[in-house]
Amino acid sequence: GCQCAGLSPRPAGSLRIMTEARKKKRVVIAGGGTAGWMTAAAMGKVLEKVCDVTLVESDAIGTVGVGEATIPTLVTYNRLLGIDEAQLMSALRATFKLGIAFENWTDVGHRYIHSFGITGKDHWTAGFQHFWRRGRELGVAGEFGDYCLELIAAEQERFKHLPDLGLNYAYHLDATAYAGFLREIAERHGVVRREGKIREVRRAEDGDIGSLFLEDGSEIAGDLFVDCTGFRALLIDGALGVGYEDWSHWLPCDRAIAVQTASVHPPRPYTRSIAHEAGWRWQIPLQHRTGNGTVYCSRYMSDDEARGKLLGDIEGECLSEPRLLRFRTGTRRAHWHRNCIAIGLSSGFIEPLESTSIHMIQRSVMRLMQMFPREGVHQPDIDEFNRQTAYEIEHIRDFIILHYHLTNRTDTPFWRHCRTMDIPDGLRHRMALFQQAGRVFRANDELFAENSWTQVMLGQGLMPQSHHPVADVMTEAEVTRFLSYITENVNKTVAGLPMHQDYLGSYCPATKSDL
Ligand code: FAD
Repeated sequence: GCQCAGLSPRPAGSLRIMTEARKKKRVVIAGGGTAGWMTAAAMGKVLEKVCDVTLVESDAIGTVGVGEATIPTLVTYNRLLGIDEAQLMSALRATFKLGIAFENWTDVGHRYIHSFGITGKDHWTAGFQHFWRRGRELGVAGEFGDYCLELIAAEQERFKHLPDLGLNYAYHLDATAYAGFLREIAERHGVVRREGKIREVRRAEDGDIGSLFLEDGSEIAGDLFVDCTGFRALLIDGALGVGYEDWSHWLPCDRAIAVQTASVHPPRPYTRSIAHEAGWRWQIPLQHRTGNGTVYCSRYMSDDEARGKLLGDIEGECLSEPRLLRFRTGTRRAHWHRNCIAIGLSSGFIEPLESTSIHMIQRSVMRLMQMFPREGVHQPDIDEFNRQTAYEIEHIRDFIILHYHLTNRTDTPFWRHCRTMDIPDGLRHRMALFQQAGRVFRANDELFAENSWTQVMLGQGLMPQSHHPVADVMTEAEVTRFLSYITENVNKTVAGLPMHQDYLGSYCPATKSDL
């Protein structure tokens, strides 16, 4: 080559471009649900110049079509993608979420909120719950939640962005519309969408995935494949046979029925999770409608019974046909295997109680971007990806099990099962630590921080037997002053916030959109 270069009728620059073009990594994303488009948007945005990204999805198959509640990490993801929040929320007719109200979980008629906020003020030796417990003993403390800004704002249905103090929030959104919004970003960054049904996943000689063969006879070859085919898991399981670790002995709910209704109440800035005889029901307010669903265990409740109960319990006129979804809680044994990475429901499903699925998609996408291979794929990257993913999911799993296991409910066989079932050792240890002296420690990098564990353990009825001695250093008058100083500040700040609905109307009024 180099001897001829000077004689070439084409300038050297275009030769270089051709070589680079050939070197571009071919990434194929199978599936265009929330997982597929979240992956495509991030990959396009960051790696457009070095990767050719193709996404295959099938309108005939469609998406799972549920998933409306999120957690605050999505705010960060959207910022990374350069998304204008108000524009996104208007297009999706989204609302703000400050936490989740758990009704009937501890006991029928009992209610508490797990908010996204920080409760009270911690000392470096001991969390706020120790000082609060001392206050309870002295009879000068209110409910634990009285000391949390987000929780009181949620109760009063108020919201506003607070740049200085900070108010932690997430969104209620239409996940299908969110995928549509991300698709526009992905396509703007060169991602090519292919409509068609995958008929066969073809393996290369070395055992890696080589291409996807579509029903129309076309073939899409790639170097790296992302399996976003939902519960079908066509690549990671169908082709590569990576098995599934079943967690249904800890998380026995295995079905859901979802239905949308007209709203009968201004959108509350929190999700409602209402426990029933064999599971729970969600209520998620968007600006233009409410998402509802019931999650249940088919061993204890039939589909007809669940459907009848859901339709009897919901408020407002039905806007859609109730949809039945079947699932099995658990996780993929490996999330990255060979040249295939599973993201979304193909990688496992815990259950929607703490709205963690979209978060796990986001984490997997970010992890993949951080470990994106330059050439080939390397086992240390694969091992690290799998280690981090498994670690994260197991902690989330334990947090969800806590809600079911730590209950006083004995009224139905389902709750009696949950109360007495075996639980993972790590969770048992956490509960013992808290029960004895209110101690909570966040494991490295785990999603839910101390304050979440504390809110749910207290909410589910686990009152520590003691507290840290540092809380005894203050006099009774000092404890009283400390606690009332916090509530006064919380109440003053909340009183200055507009009603959630009014704030939505001025910040992100719903636009007519066909997303
Ligand atoms: P899917 O949406 O199922 O997408 C799969 C894609 O693969 C589709 O585009 C489909 O067309 C394509 N595909 C499949 N097979 C083929 C084929 N042969 N050829 C071509 N294309 C194919 N998450 C939250 O964060 N918050 C919630 O509140 C929440 N609630 C939930 C409630 C329930 C009852 C359930 C079941 C899930 C909930 N989730 C929630 C999870 C959330 O719905 C999913 O994480 C999210 O929608 C991502 O799904 P996905 O993209 O992995 O799969």
